[in-house]
Amino acid sequence: MPTSHRFIPDLSADEISAIQTSGLNWTLAHAFAGNPAYRQKLSAAGYEPGMTLSLEDITSLPFTTTDDLREGYPLPLLSVPQEDVVRVHASSGTTGKRKVLAYTQADIDTWKHMFARCYELAGLSVLDRVQIAVGYGLWTAGAGFQIGCEHFGAMAVPVGPGNMEIHLQLLEDMQTTTLCSTASMALLMAEEVQKRHLKGKIALKKAIFGAEPHSDKMRRRIHELLGIEESFDIVGMTELYGPGTGLECCAHAGIHYWADLYILEILDPQTLRPVAPGEVGEMVVTTLRKEAAPLIRYRTRDLTRLLPGECSCGVRLPRHDKILGRSDDMIIFRGVNIYPGQVAAVIELFKELGSEFRIHLFRKGGKDQMLLQVERRPEADPTYDQNLSEAVSEELRKQVMVRAWVEVMGQGELPRSFGKTKRVVDDREAGEQ
Ligand code: AMP
Ligand code: ZN
Repeated sequence: MPTSHRFIPDLSADEISAIQTSGLNWTLAHAFAGNPAYRQKLSAAGYEPGMTLSLEDITSLPFTTTDDLREGYPLPLLSVPQEDVVRVHASSGTTGKRKVLAYTQADIDTWKHMFARCYELAGLSVLDRVQIAVGYGLWTAGAGFQIGCEHFGAMAVPVGPGNMEIHLQLLEDMQTTTLCSTASMALLMAEEVQKRHLKGKIALKKAIFGAEPHSDKMRRRIHELLGIEESFDIVGMTELYGPGTGLECCAHAGIHYWADLYILEILDPQTLRPVAPGEVGEMVVTTLRKEAAPLIRYRTRDLTRLLPGECSCGVRLPRHDKILGRSDDMIIFRGVNIYPGQVAAVIELFKELGSEFRIHLFRKGGKDQMLLQVERRPEADPTYDQNLSEAVSEELRKQVMVRAWVEVMGQGELPRSFGKTKRVVDDREAGEQ
């Protein structure tokens, strides 16, 4: 299929390799010259200015981690004179200090161009009206969706998260065509649209969901309640500009990522060696033209796999699978390693269940216990809750190898979120319950 894109480049594998090779060497020289911490780490690894590395040589370079971000607080990895910085953004960071990342004007321009590609890949046009329901301010989310939308040329309706009344009013009055939010926020909105019988009055066709993993089940429910035809998973992180580092395409077969802007390695988180092609591992990224805070082999902790082969959508940029979880999200329960995504996959099998779930861990009887709370679909009969709970528990035992109590709740009984949903509540340190 021919592609005629304005923002998405059509590059062959060889062209991408050439861009990555020169970008890698530019980044090394730039970070070495501009940042003392990088200079020290690169020197220790045998790098000297003037060297030209090949792409294969990347494995000899040192990693960058969240510890490096913490140590450099408040302007970690800064590799340009401070007068060149035009903005900072920050992410909450799970422990300790916020991760603050600086941007030059060229970085902002790269980001907005990269984000415009996302809207293009999702098939938007300049006539689309894009309601943005993610956080503005210090966070990258709102800023990214906004500059990308303006650069692409569609109409941004910047509302931010929460503000349900304003959102619903604008969906109707502006006849918004595209919603950008977390899947959690979209579900909340969808349930509100249903309660107020607004589906016939709104014009949403597409949605772009980011910031958290979401199941197909959750997506189907949102589509059904909002009358959406198609939705797209968007990836990104503050360290790597922000959201928009890749998007699911119209073939819905993985996420195309911008390999001309960063190198993606998928490594075994234990050995830090590349996994076999197609295996799941940690995403490790190296930027190719990021000025203020370049990343050299930054360990993201996000887990995914590369998807080989050409995509039927015609875009030649490579693909990775959706983000399957974070290595930090792993729960160790009675010696078994579990990711919330595995639990979501079990729930997916039961047509009587909705998409929402919460894993509660606690101690009782001298042992760790797991309670999985799930929601029944509105049309499912509560009389069979006991059978359903036993069936889910049995499936968890078979597929995830854990014994858990399963509580079936009514539709809407679990807490909803304007942002990322917290799927795991761990009270094991709190003592016996
Ligand atoms: P932040 O830097 O605060 O924007 O958060 C970035 C993190 O959110 C990533 O490292 C991922 O763990 C997670 N994340 C972002 N987008 C997605 C997505 N589409 N699916 C799953 N997780 C995501
Ligand atoms: Zn594609």
